[in-house]
Amino acid sequence: MGLNLAVAGAGAIVMVNTVNLVQDTLGRPAADVAWLLSANGLGVLVIAFAVPMLSARFGDRAVMLTGGGVLFLAAASAVGFTFTSADQWQWPALLVLWAAIGVGSGAILTPTGNVLRRSSAPHDRPAVFAAQFSLSHACWLLAYPIAGWGATVAGYSVTWMVLAGLAGTGACVALWCWPAREPEALEHVHPADITDLDHVRGTAATAVGYVHTHTFVIDELHRQWPQRCRSAA
Ligand SMILES: [Zn+2]
Repeated sequence: MGLNLAVAGAGAIVMVNTVNLVQDTLGRPAADVAWLLSANGLGVLVIAFAVPMLSARFGDRAVMLTGGGVLFLAAASAVGFTFTSADQWQWPALLVLWAAIGVGSGAILTPTGNVLRRSSAPHDRPAVFAAQFSLSHACWLLAYPIAGWGATVAGYSVTWMVLAGLAGTGACVALWCWPAREPEALEHVHPADITDLDHVRGTAATAVGYVHTHTFVIDELHRQWPQRCRSAA
């Protein structure tokens, strides 16, 4: 969700503000709107090709959190632009910034399915993907009006500061919530009165309940992330 927020915060600058920025603020031809949006699309495309290799090498977490950092830096750099006069806006630098927002978004969106799949049991996947779809759009629902309404009443500087703040907050939340060491199999305890005995078949009951280790995802039988239970066992 933190990374969804980062994508929406920086992405709203591109999706909502590009047309007015290029045509009204910079007085450039309509074709340049397409060029700037293409730069963004190109960023997504290039990183989408690279992500499988990068994820295999560095892991999804490193790739996605780097994407969050790129989004924050790109949005913050865009804020820097707004303190210059319109004729000082460097077009090539804008193309690079818009491409960077594409790269950051792609680095987060491409592995998302992978992460969700790894974090859910097969029968829960439709619900998990539906939740991701709804909640990511909730982030857009927050960011779009800020970009559109904010740019109209407060100008790009303030608006993009808020959006860069959203992106940075999202990236920090993700960094904080997503543990760096994340073994797939975790030891955990089931209470002695567990109803689904098939799940603990072959596990001896101890004083604290059934203690066993397997690939851990949140589901009906595992509603909370396990605390370290070795000492209790
Ligand atoms: Zn279990």
